[in-house]
Amino acid sequence: MEEKFRTKVEQNWLKCWIAKDTISEVLAELADIRFKAFYTHIRNDIYSNHGILQAETCSTCSDPSTQCNLCSKIVTRIWNYHRFKKARLRGPSWKNTDITKWCTESWELAKCYMPPTGYKEKASAGETDFNGIIGAIYNCSWMQNYFTDDLSQETNICTKARDVVNELRHTNGMNIDDRVMFSFFDCLLNLLNDTAYLNSFQPAVDARTCLIRLQLDKMPLTEMEVNDTLQKRYKDEGLVLVSRTEWYAQSSKEAAQYMTMPVSHVFIHHTTMNECFSQEKGVIEMRKIQHIHQDLNGWADIGYNFVIGQDGKVYMGRGWDRVGAHTLGWNNKSISFAFTGNFTETLPTDDALNALEAALVLGVKLGKLTPDFKLHGHRDARPETKSPGQKLYNQICKHKHYEPIGPNIETFSPQSRV
Ligand SMILES: [Zn+2]
Repeated sequence: MEEKFRTKVEQNWLKCWIAKDTISEVLAELADIRFKAFYTHIRNDIYSNHGILQAETCSTCSDPSTQCNLCSKIVTRIWNYHRFKKARLRGPSWKNTDITKWCTESWELAKCYMPPTGYKEKASAGETDFNGIIGAIYNCSWMQNYFTDDLSQETNICTKARDVVNELRHTNGMNIDDRVMFSFFDCLLNLLNDTAYLNSFQPAVDARTCLIRLQLDKMPLTEMEVNDTLQKRYKDEGLVLVSRTEWYAQSSKEAAQYMTMPVSHVFIHHTTMNECFSQEKGVIEMRKIQHIHQDLNGWADIGYNFVIGQDGKVYMGRGWDRVGAHTLGWNNKSISFAFTGNFTETLPTDDALNALEAALVLGVKLGKLTPDFKLHGHRDARPETKSPGQKLYNQICKHKHYEPIGPNIETFSPQSRV
């Protein structure tokens, strides 16, 4: 596995995220089908009340307050089916929706029922996150047709699922105890068991089987499933992670050594090799660096914990937990990020620098870095190197977590082969 999930609480964390991704897919399928039906329903209703044929469409109205005859009828119905139509500040989320597509893309109707902002670019159910989908289902009162549980109650199976998923998203560290995990699974299973529709909706039936086996440890997880879950988790934080499998990494030549988490030092390096503006180039570069580190330097694995390409992709090296081989004297108490390229005279791209920032935030959130971690350039610890390049080093010196390493603070101790 790429990351360590050795303890029970870490495995629980992973299981909860897999369960969350599983139920997200089910609800996305449900919402996709049911919002298509919702569109058909309101068009039939408009036909029977106003005689506007279903075949008539509009793709020109774009403002919810000035509408053609047809669109104004649709607006009225979107309002009527909004659960919070009476509350003054709530109601449809017009900022999310593209009104010109109401007659061709039923997902644009679903978006009127999602949280007020953040969904404008989500063109389909598959692109929409759990919060958006559960919001659309819950806020559109017409969806009550597919639930036995009374969704007009403040606490119901949808709001409960929404709340536990939000709690999971805000969990610090990667540890979840058994009690919390079981109650999380119970909550998701309650939703999947609802007898009106989900109980016999095939994707929900499959998801239920999967969740029950997962909860009871009867489902061995493949490396692919673990990678997939981690990548989604990173994506939530705005990071595109390239797994070791994806860059065709050779396995480590020695058993991994793990650091005690969280660590409080981060070192920034540059590779002085190719810059890598695409994953294709990045994969070749990662193989090249790993070859140098393993076969020429004689190390167990690629030395860096992470490598950042100029397109902002983050390549998994040794990951958060494993002792790396990057900054002599500091390897067992720090995490390294290496930017691909040479940054003596130029800076990495904004994409690459933003990826570092997002990775540092995630590191704190996952409990891998202390909140007050210290950021250093490679040369702070090893003055004989130019890494990470003068220009990038100047930039790092301005970072709020930057701290120089004073002389003699750390006693130099040669590392064993790592
Ligand atoms: Zn119109």
